[in-house]
Amino acid sequence: MGRRFGPYGGAYVPETLVPALAELEAAWRAARADPAFRKEHARLARTLGGRPTPLHLAPRLSARAGGARIWLKREDLLHTGAHKFNNALGQGLLTVRMGKPRLIAETGAGQHGVATAMIGAALGLRTEVYMGEVDMARQRPNVERMQLLGAKVVPVRSGSRTLKDAINAALRDWIANVRTTHYLLGSAVGPHPFPSIVADFQSVIGKEIRRDALRAFGRLPELVVACVGGGSNAIGTFKPLVRSRVELLGVEAGGPRGAPWGAASLSRGRPGILHGAFTYVLQDREGQIAPTESVSAGLDYAGVGPEHAWLRDSGRVRYVAVHDDGALRAFRWLAEDEGILPALEPSHAIYAAVKEASRRSPDQNIVVTLSGRGDKDLEVVLGAARRRP
Ligand SMILES: *Cc1c(COP(=O)(O)O)cnc(C)c1O
Repeated sequence: MGRRFGPYGGAYVPETLVPALAELEAAWRAARADPAFRKEHARLARTLGGRPTPLHLAPRLSARAGGARIWLKREDLLHTGAHKFNNALGQGLLTVRMGKPRLIAETGAGQHGVATAMIGAALGLRTEVYMGEVDMARQRPNVERMQLLGAKVVPVRSGSRTLKDAINAALRDWIANVRTTHYLLGSAVGPHPFPSIVADFQSVIGKEIRRDALRAFGRLPELVVACVGGGSNAIGTFKPLVRSRVELLGVEAGGPRGAPWGAASLSRGRPGILHGAFTYVLQDREGQIAPTESVSAGLDYAGVGPEHAWLRDSGRVRYVAVHDDGALRAFRWLAEDEGILPALEPSHAIYAAVKEASRRSPDQNIVVTLSGRGDKDLEVVLGAARRRP
């Protein structure tokens, strides 16, 4: 049994994966304690990734809200355009350390697939990415990016042919090829130790927020906001602040107005087992995984990382859902007020942050993690504008 967050987490996996998960945990713990690994990791984060990312004051967005000051943690400036770089680099280096020549990954929107293909190329690892056929059709440019980076994209034709089926296919491949292959899981989900490893590699976000807030305004912010899909950028943002008094707000995708589920596992789900972990899951009365819906492919997942499940139940983090129309409005605010095209995932968090800012006084500071850039979403944004001018 794996490590737990309250009752959540664990490792509900077939017997064959147990040694691989143990090997991964041992490699990760040894790497964390190894100064040479940490030095190489820090070097590549800087020279390949572009870390550290800045904390940027958004003055005109703050003025629009008419209350607290809003700051953006600019993970959108990282290599390949999102925080996913942090996890891909960390697990890529662990793969090399374990002496495995092959990487596999799942991807929904393609962002994690692109980050994995990139690190596979940079570290000389053979890379295959599982992707649902439906997602391959709607995210064509990312399929092409992965292929240009030398990865093989494997179409998944089972189930709903989307992200959850791609995860199942990647898990099956891992079971069959576990000696030569590392499964580079893309979010803070899945069986132990993945949620802890991914949170560890993403925690650089919260550590930099802490340091740069002290430099920029001499204290920690009053509120920190991040969007939650599987929960990796949010747990990386929150974890270094959980023991402080900073208020923490996670923002899930509410989906279209009136949709029964959206992709809001913590707001509308209930505890169950998905992809090897006990966590909040969107499911019907019989326990069948519910069909999720969101304007942002990166938040469109029926589960959530088990550590968030515990942070929710314990009350340390508040979670809310923002609908598609809120995210689309926030996309435009950030574009027109600040000259930044955000990804639709963090646009959910921007919307919630502006609402919060409007209720607070101007001497308060709110930090929002801008998890990725919006180039990948232009078609969706423009399509929505055509339907509702
Ligand atoms: C994938 C993605 C997300 C959602 O994933 P988390 O694991 O919840 O962070 C959020 N933002 C962007 C830009 C993404 O690409």
